[in-house]
Amino acid sequence: MTGRPGSRTGRTTRGSSQASAGELLELVRSGHATTRGALQQATGLSRATVGQRLDRLFRAGWLREGAGGPVDSPLGGRPSITLEFDDAHAVVLAADLDTRHARAAVLSLTGEILAEHSGTLVIEDGPDAVLGELGRWFGELLEKAGHRADEVCGIGIAVPGPVDSETGRVVQPPIMPDWDGYDIRGRLARAFTEHTGAAQVPVLVDNDANLMAYGEQRTAYPDCSAFVLVKVSTGIGAGVVVDGSVFRGVDGGAGDIGHIRVGADALCRCGSYGCLAAVASGGAVARRLAETGVPAASGSDVRDLLASGHPGAAALAREAGRQVGDVLATVVTLLNPGVLMIAGDLAGTPFLTGVRELLYQRALPRSTAHLDVVTSRLGERAGLVGAGAMVVEYLYAPERVEERLRALGV
Ligand SMILES: [Zn+2]
Repeated sequence: MTGRPGSRTGRTTRGSSQASAGELLELVRSGHATTRGALQQATGLSRATVGQRLDRLFRAGWLREGAGGPVDSPLGGRPSITLEFDDAHAVVLAADLDTRHARAAVLSLTGEILAEHSGTLVIEDGPDAVLGELGRWFGELLEKAGHRADEVCGIGIAVPGPVDSETGRVVQPPIMPDWDGYDIRGRLARAFTEHTGAAQVPVLVDNDANLMAYGEQRTAYPDCSAFVLVKVSTGIGAGVVVDGSVFRGVDGGAGDIGHIRVGADALCRCGSYGCLAAVASGGAVARRLAETGVPAASGSDVRDLLASGHPGAAALAREAGRQVGDVLATVVTLLNPGVLMIAGDLAGTPFLTGVRELLYQRALPRSTAHLDVVTSRLGERAGLVGAGAMVVEYLYAPERVEERLRALGV
């Protein structure tokens, strides 16, 4: 049986007589066991113990009986009522920051966007101002979605820089200079409280390419065990999802391919010369267009030019795709992914054509035989969907469920 990516069922419960309420919830959420009988079978717990643990989940409002009616029980006897995760008991807030623009949303626990806002928010204005403003957006979004602030169980935020996932702080981020080491979690939790009056909730922070990859993989490629997303906008970054989990490396630096040296002499925003991002990002293409008199200052300007079919922009995007494709040949050889997804301002036919030209020329045939090179499915919402999913997977992980049920008094 293939479960949802990230499921911990194989490790924690099979054959165990100690399965917790959190592990039963995980079995139901993943679809591995959705009746009382199936839960008994999967955990070895008695009918009475399964009943007691499920009762706590029902009282918390986290489980409900399915609408589909009874199904045959694996243990024989009477048909059983199916159980499902009740996503109506809480909502999640998510934000995705780009250098000059941000998106925010209220999401259901199953990832549906209930209300969304996007607008100008400038990273260079610094974390205090940006996160304070996000708190105001969240207040308005909850009103728009018709949800109370005390229904919010957590907040997820995607940022365009490397993140230490232990502390939720960005580490030496080239395009977020004033944010280095800043307490994003604490400030955003306070901003949410200031603008809604609700108690503080957990805040989780991750890199934007990581969360886009996570959102896209779960939504469109749930069975893909090695998934790579490359975001090409102001900078270039990659997110890697292996067996349903984001692969971050030991310091959160995995996927930071934008600063691989490709030998050119262009100055990068990180201070080095010759980085991939300095020659093949949306910002780099905008600069080259500006040199030829085309008005372009950012990756989003290039995106608009590409959408209007501008031939100069298309030629430069294809060339950028070839340069990124050269680096991706190494990435693909190392990871042998099933899907390589191109996202961000430059994601489109010319760039993708360039990537394919170099990739299939440079990578070993065995690395690309079963590789799909595709563009984003969720588009500009990928980061929001990934940020929301990160929060839900964190809060409903078996190891956290017991503590949260106790806090609810059930
Ligand atoms: Zn660089």
